[in-house]
Amino acid sequence: MKKIRENTKKVIEKCREKNSEVAAVTKVFAGDKYIIKSIIDSGINILADSRLKNLKKFNDLKIKKMLIRIPMKSEIEEVVKYTDISLNSELETIFEINKYAKIRNKIYEIMLMIDVGDLREGIFFENYNEIYNTVKNVIKLKNIKLKGLGTNFSCFGGVIPSEEKYNILINIKNRLEKDLNIKIKEISGGSSGTLSLIDEINIPKDVNQLRCGASIALGIGLNDMPFEYLHQNTCEFAVELVEIKKKILNNKIKKIGVCIINTPGMKKEYFIPTDKKIKIIDINNDYIILDLTESEKKHNLNDEIFFNLSYGGLLLSMNSPYVRKVYLNNL
Ligand SMILES: *Cc1c(COP(=O)(O)O)cnc(C)c1O
Repeated sequence: MKKIRENTKKVIEKCREKNSEVAAVTKVFAGDKYIIKSIIDSGINILADSRLKNLKKFNDLKIKKMLIRIPMKSEIEEVVKYTDISLNSELETIFEINKYAKIRNKIYEIMLMIDVGDLREGIFFENYNEIYNTVKNVIKLKNIKLKGLGTNFSCFGGVIPSEEKYNILINIKNRLEKDLNIKIKEISGGSSGTLSLIDEINIPKDVNQLRCGASIALGIGLNDMPFEYLHQNTCEFAVELVEIKKKILNNKIKKIGVCIINTPGMKKEYFIPTDKKIKIIDINNDYIILDLTESEKKHNLNDEIFFNLSYGGLLLSMNSPYVRKVYLNNL
């Protein structure tokens, strides 16, 4: 937990240097309130999650909550009840939000998404008329506040954040401000992937929010690259040895260890053994099979073997009822 708190503080500090606020993306933690509270205590002002179910669990936490995907029309009532901000791109949905916000007597904030080529959510950047028309309608709504413009990178289209892409967004912002005589205060400009490039590319100062998840949780950013100033080993996955035998593998005698994994859907690439001399041979829903031959440690039955986790591994572990979670406050 200490490492996650330190990561959170460093990410906030790094973004602050560049005039950006951090929305802490919590989806990898599957609504785990203990961890989320720790992240809030580290100085976060906005929680961002793509699962409404997770955000519902945070209902009693006094902090702004942002749904970082487009809401479904069928869930708007709950979206308005449990969140304060969401990402949007469809007027029809925004009208629906306005309707429920009015019922709740609430001003609901939306981040209008602009797609700068990544083919995720958002109005395509070249369709200025559609963007203009949407904003023109949005600003008339009494219970909706246009919080700002947002965009996504490194998703389906694999577009990497660049000064050029940010300038597309800033140009749209400037044009809208002029054409509609409004002020757009926020630009939510990406994720931990942008944080990876924050010292390398010239990010316009108008970009003032980053939605950071992987960097806080695992100290990684663009293409899972580690940040040298963050902790990667925030979590460990422990399994117990239930068999140690000499076996023949590729014509060589090997010391093979079998451990209980007991979790459906795990993959080899999710696990990084903390003992670098241990290799993972295979994994299935029940067992993880390890090559212990090179390890300098003497292994006994019932010993635990430890792994650090990739993003996918942490996500699946946090979501699995078969994985017991233990919180170490001082590590
Ligand atoms: C998951 C997500 C993020 C956070 O990405 P990280 O790489 O975990 O920092 C940001 N924005 C959206 C819309 C997301 O879905």
